[in-house]
Amino acid sequence: MTHVRITAESGIPLMGSLYFGVIDRGTSLLQVRPSCGCNLNCPFCSVDAGPESKTRATSYEVEMEYLLEAVDEIARFKGEGVECHIDSPGEPMMYRHLPELVAALKGIGCVTAVSLQTNGTMLTDISIAALESAGLDRINLSLHALDPDMARMLAGVEWFDIGQVSEAARMVANSRIDLLVAPVYIPGINDAEIPKLIRFAQECGAGKRFPPLGIQKFEHYRYGRSPKGVKAQSWWQFFNRSIRPWEKEHGLRLQLDMERDFGTVRRQFVPLTMAKGDKVTVEIRAPGWIHGEMLGVAKNRVVSVYNCEKESGQVRVKIVSAKHNIYTGQPV
Ligand code: SF4
Repeated sequence: MTHVRITAESGIPLMGSLYFGVIDRGTSLLQVRPSCGCNLNCPFCSVDAGPESKTRATSYEVEMEYLLEAVDEIARFKGEGVECHIDSPGEPMMYRHLPELVAALKGIGCVTAVSLQTNGTMLTDISIAALESAGLDRINLSLHALDPDMARMLAGVEWFDIGQVSEAARMVANSRIDLLVAPVYIPGINDAEIPKLIRFAQECGAGKRFPPLGIQKFEHYRYGRSPKGVKAQSWWQFFNRSIRPWEKEHGLRLQLDMERDFGTVRRQFVPLTMAKGDKVTVEIRAPGWIHGEMLGVAKNRVVSVYNCEKESGQVRVKIVSAKHNIYTGQPV
């Protein structure tokens, strides 16, 4: 695995890639991605992360000051009431400067909340206290089962200890950080675990300011992992066959609304600098996430170039996707 450190001097912008930097989906919530390493091997991982990944060729880490400059600029463009959600395609707690990053993000004028997605394995009394002092508002805890064997199987590592993670969840719920339990429902696998997780969230004090639960829908992704025999539900099946019956059984609203529940509102997109179909010259600056991919730079954005044979210099590419300022291209 190649490790790439992204600094101001690297000449790699912090918009344009799904792997690191800042992602703007046209709302007041910014996804902030400081690194992308992971310590688990979940068999349903949407991004094929972790030590046993078959597709990942590169790990990225962004210098904190450089990341803060980018967030500051984008947050000022978005205006008052920005939430920074730290949600690396991996485990963000593996970023060495996480408490410092949280504190600095909270210090940005337009930022009113900072939240973190984590698998919980690195939450200890010490790390929770550091994140609490830094001013972290919410932890979205990816916890998919309470049964020890099922939880271990879904983490993909023998050492996974559900006792440690559930104890950490209780510590978070008892701190000034709010807890949101965010299991992925994998049909046919953890059906019996979801009601247990709902009861756990209700009883441990999750959801002081935000909802206690955010059940996520399992999806198949091109470069992700899917457990054998599992078929993703349609959105209709997810809400009508799963969410609604659980809502009735537990007397709890589980279908969340970004504005009502998190205060996330639509905001103008940071302008695209390229459009789908454009032909541009990119400067290759780093290896890509998967083999055969390189990261190029053009017009102040990262472009993921697939089937790229050159490892440096300039490549002429056609932009094949530009949605949400995430760019992919093919050599022409
Ligand atoms: S699902 Fe999350 S915790 Fe599990 S391997 Fe993927 S990135 Fe890591």
